[in-house]
Amino acid sequence: MQPSDKIFIAGHRGLVGSALVRQLRSLGFENLLLRSRQELDLEDIAAVRAFFEKERPRHVFFAAAKVGGILANSSYPADFIHDNLLIQLSVIGAAQATNVEKMLFLGSSCIYPKLAEQPIREESLLTGELEPTNEAYAIAKIAGIIMCRSFNRQYGTRFISAMPTNLYGEGDNFERAGSHVLPALMRRFHDAKLANQDEIVVWGSGSPRREFLHVDDMADASIHLMRVWAETADDGSVVGGQNALNEIVNIGYGEDVSIRDLAELVAELVGYRGTLRFDTSMPDGTPRKLLDSTRLRATGWRPRISLRDGIARTYEWFLAHPAVARLG
Ligand code: GDP
Repeated sequence: MQPSDKIFIAGHRGLVGSALVRQLRSLGFENLLLRSRQELDLEDIAAVRAFFEKERPRHVFFAAAKVGGILANSSYPADFIHDNLLIQLSVIGAAQATNVEKMLFLGSSCIYPKLAEQPIREESLLTGELEPTNEAYAIAKIAGIIMCRSFNRQYGTRFISAMPTNLYGEGDNFERAGSHVLPALMRRFHDAKLANQDEIVVWGSGSPRREFLHVDDMADASIHLMRVWAETADDGSVVGGQNALNEIVNIGYGEDVSIRDLAELVAELVGYRGTLRFDTSMPDGTPRKLLDSTRLRATGWRPRISLRDGIARTYEWFLAHPAVARLG
């Protein structure tokens, strides 16, 4: 991947896509192909095909997806499976038809079975039942992985799938109902601090464990994977001792925390001093989600941003963007 290469970042306004744009630009990549939803509807198969035929990107970071937290996923499962399948059909098909050299397809750690052995290795894919709260989304993402793998086998494409752990950071979704736990709690603690509220509700029991990776580390790992892979693609594509083209690569931080500990850390960094009340009528979701990132680590990559620093940075960003704090 050279700085002059034309690179399409599908989903460049999202959490991961915007971090990728920041990082690629800071590395001197100037030929980035970006389209807003108004300019290009990724669910429109014909429009996406025409776009690829006209623009001919050399590399693609596939960061476009319909995503949401536990409540959004369990409330709108039809939208999650439908929209993601369509986006994937469009982009993967067009990338193959126009000979994209390499594509990194981004999924999510929820593709793994609910009770997968922890830390979760890539080999756990399709070995057990999924977590019901996000099954529809997970099935769509699994279809994307299998599509990439199948296209590689049948057409000789170079589509690799990366599965990030729970991500957070600048540009996250801070809406009240649809967001993920970290931005949701940050906003709730912030509001409670301003309102001098002495108690705050945290969903579920507080005992589920999650792993969090700052989105800048995610962008860094994604670019790293594209590069490492480029170096080895001609001699059989070896990443971390595995055949990368038919494999998936986990992108994790390496440590997890309980939701209770996370809530306490966010409260501390936001400066909220009230008490936490755990609302067990809300779903816990999967009990633990920690990725085994050995395959990625074997390529020499390490995360740089600790959870504490990452939350502090995210809160600074939140404070600097007052419109975000007014979302519904
Ligand atoms: P998940 O990793 O797919 O389960 O997605 P989430 O980030 O939505 O939820 C992670 C865990 O945090 C679950 O156990 C939730 O019940 C818990 N949680 C606690 N408070 C909140 C909250 O305010 N919003 C969300 N989304 N999750 C919360």
